[in-house]
Amino acid sequence: MERNCLFCKIVAGEIPASIVASNELAIAFNDISPVAPTHLLVIPKAHYENVSALTKEDGPSLVALLELAEEVAAGADFRLVFNSGAGVGQSVFHAHGHVLAGRDFAWPPG
Ligand code: AMP
Ligand code: ZN
Repeated sequence: MERNCLFCKIVAGEIPASIVASNELAIAFNDISPVAPTHLLVIPKAHYENVSALTKEDGPSLVALLELAEEVAAGADFRLVFNSGAGVGQSVFHAHGHVLAGRDFAWPPG
């Protein structure tokens, strides 16, 4: 756990969140400021600054996260977005994927 990391505090239960699903290595919770009817975050329980920090040894955490994304999407088509770096909008520096569904999405993304 990283001190002063919001998502580590959610994993530790120190800050409340609307947790929807979890497995051994990852948790999924509702985004506090949703931009789609379905908007969850899937995060590894271990702290990584962003998805770029994951290495080959962290494969199980990444697979766990992808399994949760699939689970919370509940059969619907979904978009999975990882903002990696402040330059593309990352604001919380604990790796997380946004699971977005329930409306039309433009491509290429804005
Ligand atoms: P990003 O901009 O990719 O780093 O995404 C961070 C996301 O975390 C944003 O969509 C925020 O709405 C969301 N967020 C921030 N604080 C919380 C919180 N306490 N609980 C749930 N989601 C949060
Ligand atoms: Zn963290």
